[in-house]
Amino acid sequence: MTFITRFAPSPTGPLHLGHAYSALLAQDMARAEGGDFLLRIEDIDQSRARDHWEAQIYDDLSWLGLCWPTPVLRQSDQKDRYRTALEHLWASGVLYPCICSRRDIETATSAPQEGAQTYGPDGIIYPQTCKRNMTKDQALTGQNPIPEETAIRLDMQRACAFSSAAFTETGYGPNGETGRIEFTAQQIVDSVGDIVLSRRGMGTSYHLSVVLDDAAQGVTHVVRGEDLFEATKIHVVLQRLLGLPTPTYHHHKLMRDGAGKRLAKRDDARAIAKYRAEGASRQDIRKMVGLD
Ligand code: GLU
Repeated sequence: MTFITRFAPSPTGPLHLGHAYSALLAQDMARAEGGDFLLRIEDIDQSRARDHWEAQIYDDLSWLGLCWPTPVLRQSDQKDRYRTALEHLWASGVLYPCICSRRDIETATSAPQEGAQTYGPDGIIYPQTCKRNMTKDQALTGQNPIPEETAIRLDMQRACAFSSAAFTETGYGPNGETGRIEFTAQQIVDSVGDIVLSRRGMGTSYHLSVVLDDAAQGVTHVVRGEDLFEATKIHVVLQRLLGLPTPTYHHHKLMRDGAGKRLAKRDDARAIAKYRAEGASRQDIRKMVGLD
């Protein structure tokens, strides 16, 4: 069986123990299957990505004993591919422009007649304000050029031209979900809604880029934290729309601090670099994350 997996950090802060666990687990799984482990730098958010964090990623991962083929795919170099995919989706009429700010969305969804705000994997489920406000002419989105200066949303109802879809989970979702994970179009419309597929000024989004790059790199097994389990349903919808294969997914538990809070990039206290500076060995890190 071909087994190609990847670790895909964003260079926006120091890698911590949670990243070490994810990367080491992915490489262990690839080794056990005689497969490949790839590294990808997810730096589409150029306002937050920094060269020194990218350099630190290479340094920490090498120190942990990981190796990967070079050149490493860097998402900021892939904009043309993202644009082509976005144009394809635009032409098929499943996207629409959105000018709402976060504040607009909060205001719209907190109006008394709207009922309780509902959250999906990307935050508050979008109340479709811009879709409802579109004129008939604008609604023929596929025929006009993509507006440059707005966010572009996926019309989830139109995108889900299936009754049910599925992916294979070899790890666990946050509620113990494993095996064949099936979901209906209606479930994803209700629980995810019209997510942003291209952020203003960015030309893409995490969801679009991750799906395109996993396919471009031939990734067969995605190993990542359980916080992305629900987002996987979005990825399956996009794979169907773009005619891409759906890899097998393996979501793993998240590393938490003593108080049970998941580690974040700003938790410098758990940064791999800090343990290194204190004289820890890579074996110590493997033990700390529960891999030995
Ligand atoms: N770049 C994402 C992160 O740092 C990882 C996304 C993924 O593994 O799909 O959280």
